[in-house]
Amino acid sequence: MEYEPVIGLEVHAELLTNSKMFCSCPVVDSTQAAPNIAVCPVCAGMPGVLPVVNQKAVEYAMRVALALECKIAHLSLFDRKNYFYPDLPKGYQISQFEYPLAQHGRLVIHTSNGEKVVRILRTHLEEDAGKLTHVQKDGQSYSLVDLNRAGVALLEIVSEPDMRSAEEARAYAETLRSIIRYLGVNSGDMSKGVIRFEANVSVREAGSEILNPRVEIKNLNSFRALERAVLYQIDLQTEKMKRGEAVVQETVGWDEAREVTFSQRSKEEAHDYRYFPEPDLPPLVIESEWIERVAAGLPELPAAKADRFKQEYQLNANIALQLVEERSTADFYEAVLKADPSLSPKTAAGWVTGELFGWMNQTGECCEELRISPADLAKLLGMIQQNEINQTTAKSVLVDMLQTGKSAQELVATKGLKQISNAEDIAVLVREALEANPKEMSAYLEGKETLSNWFFGQVMRAAHGKANPQVVRAELEQQLNSRKENS
Ligand code: ADP
Ligand code: MG
Ligand code: ZN
Repeated sequence: MEYEPVIGLEVHAELLTNSKMFCSCPVVDSTQAAPNIAVCPVCAGMPGVLPVVNQKAVEYAMRVALALECKIAHLSLFDRKNYFYPDLPKGYQISQFEYPLAQHGRLVIHTSNGEKVVRILRTHLEEDAGKLTHVQKDGQSYSLVDLNRAGVALLEIVSEPDMRSAEEARAYAETLRSIIRYLGVNSGDMSKGVIRFEANVSVREAGSEILNPRVEIKNLNSFRALERAVLYQIDLQTEKMKRGEAVVQETVGWDEAREVTFSQRSKEEAHDYRYFPEPDLPPLVIESEWIERVAAGLPELPAAKADRFKQEYQLNANIALQLVEERSTADFYEAVLKADPSLSPKTAAGWVTGELFGWMNQTGECCEELRISPADLAKLLGMIQQNEINQTTAKSVLVDMLQTGKSAQELVATKGLKQISNAEDIAVLVREALEANPKEMSAYLEGKETLSNWFFGQVMRAAHGKANPQVVRAELEQQLNSRKENS
């Protein structure tokens, strides 16, 4: 029997507002700031205080909802989600339950199987909890509470159970992250926990429509962890089903070091959150006019940009998707073309996704940190186009540029890297190479034609890689032919 996995994702993203969701405390980097410096009676959960909704947070949430093609509710409600935990001073989290901010959207993802639509179930606003740090001191265990993060605006995006592989789950998470970064509502810095993933996984007979009990994997904070954990659960559940065992609903964590999930609580121990409407907040009313204003302010999103790049620059889908994943890279690419409109967009795209991405992967630098500007890269590509340097030289010049910040012209001039394109100079180089290797020459004349490539290599070596390869090829062919005729 064939089995198929069923996966739904819950994504939590902190919103990059200046102040928290329901008070005026500043939002600080919770990995950098001293503990408990951004706390007031509201976010500390003191009795008698009143929350006030952060308008910017609502607007940011609307941006995401619209980018995901969700329908925004004209009226949504805040609810109290009750549970006890030391990082939650109020004893409840303000969230949205029955009447969320937005519902029924879609996200297009790309995997090795092509394009796929994942439906979005809902998008709602809530507040983050604080952070606990567990320490050992003098043989005693302590838990330290930092409430800087308590009350920070949090957006939860819940997908329908539409994904059918760990690869799709990862692609969904990556695409969503790319979008919220484009929208400027989240930094996307997963090492700081500003986006967190939870994956719900079940397995069923292939082709069946039923939804089997799901296992929820909590707090995955990297794409790799997400993909590995989902794969792990798929394998585990498939094995169980093959043995005729039932999969029971439970919540698990991911052990990063051992690459296994571990049980946190079963269905029986599941929380009863006793949701009820937040009595201290009025309904959230959003008029059509506000929605239209937010929609009009959305930037060009990655999918639209990729389509435009395919159209405008004749790029293939894969290259276009790579270029648009980060807004800064897409902007860098277009700035290169703008700096020199005579450049071939395809060639420029190849250099950005090839050499430049290679450098960025290797050094961990992002686009903004590069020591060269788009105009600098355009100059280098222009020199190739003008036959002033060849591809191979250009690649090493680019590395030099990225290391030193020097311009292509300067490096080519000081290192004497200018390409030799002059036909007479090249004719001399070719003649010398043929004369210096009489053994290979006679083998060639006896019919070993593949040696022409070997001669090509000899000429390029003699020219220290600087000869124009097309001119060398043509000249070599001509000289070899005339020797063949005279032999
Ligand atoms: P909860 O808060 O109880 O986890 P949510 O509605 O917030 O509920 O999230 C449920 C998530 O689980 C959604 O992403 C949904 O697509 C997914 N899901 C629901 N049923 C299944 C199932 N049988 N298998 C896999 N995922 C599922
Ligand atoms: Mg859940
Ligand atoms: Zn506060």
